[in-house]
Amino acid sequence: MTHTRRLMAVHAHPDDESSKGAATTARYAAEGHEVLVVSCTGGERGDILNPAFGTEPKTLDEMKQIRRTEMANAANALGVSQHWLGFVDSGLPEGDPLPPLPQGSFAAGNMRDEIAALVAVVRQFQPHVMTTYDPMGGYPHPDHVRAHQVALGAFLAAGDPAAFPDAGPPWSVLKLYYNHDFSLARSMTLHEALREANHPSPFGEWIERREQWDIVERPVTTRIDVADYQSQRDTALLAHASQIDPEGFFFAVPREIERDVWPWEEYELAASRVPTHLPETDLFAGIDPHAADTELQSRLTESAHVAGYEDLVPGDLLADLIQGRTHAQSPWGIEGSSSPDDAEMEE
Ligand SMILES: [Zn+2]
Repeated sequence: MTHTRRLMAVHAHPDDESSKGAATTARYAAEGHEVLVVSCTGGERGDILNPAFGTEPKTLDEMKQIRRTEMANAANALGVSQHWLGFVDSGLPEGDPLPPLPQGSFAAGNMRDEIAALVAVVRQFQPHVMTTYDPMGGYPHPDHVRAHQVALGAFLAAGDPAAFPDAGPPWSVLKLYYNHDFSLARSMTLHEALREANHPSPFGEWIERREQWDIVERPVTTRIDVADYQSQRDTALLAHASQIDPEGFFFAVPREIERDVWPWEEYELAASRVPTHLPETDLFAGIDPHAADTELQSRLTESAHVAGYEDLVPGDLLADLIQGRTHAQSPWGIEGSSSPDDAEMEE
């Protein structure tokens, strides 16, 4: 007998699940697996990015309500379940120098509490595979960087009975992936195909901006064929009507060209507790489809290798966070904060 598997996609804001790995989640859901999107924040500080959307909401709460409705429609389009982790959007700090992060926001919050919240969801949903962003957040938004840290923290801690004992019985997630749908390789391939077709390309500016941000191209280990699920991704994107302009960047590539030259979504296997062979074409590769959960959990290797974390957080910060010995550090300052109990303040 083959068993259904569970996939958890950890994202920073509502709409991220529709622009990163969306068609993959639609595909696994369509194939009968359970898929849960976790949105760390409510997207309260998002700007209205669709000129046709109409009136700008006046309060964070109004924005939150709009985005709840949009998210429900997007999850429906993808055929997935969705959970709000309950933290508040930090907004994208812009300017030089960067303004401080709003107090009480996700990226300025206590990382240990945030990891504890996600550990509880992991232990309840019991995913075999988890996806999130790379250590740079995929792009430099403080909530995306924090989502990476919290997802990685939960991946490491959820299987440890000594960590967060009040958050439910331990569950070891077998594989952790980073989404790579904004790679330079993809942008350049599409850019080239559009030029050959004499179609305007939106990627010139994007490629330049990406170079300005000095984003390192990460390795791709796993490529999922999603040609048949890109239209569900599009419906999900459009469900985020306040955020996604149907005339804008996300819809600038004619879909037949996209399907021809880039019918994939790509991932980097960051950590695995089961043996697997790279490159892969399936996020569940290496997970015995006939083994029951209890058997899989007992077969785990202790050699889970976690890549990239030391680039961002030095030393044993994560172990310290799990043990509650220290508090979150943030590369961004935090509004009105000088308490060592909060986060580190940048001068
Ligand atoms: Zn986001």
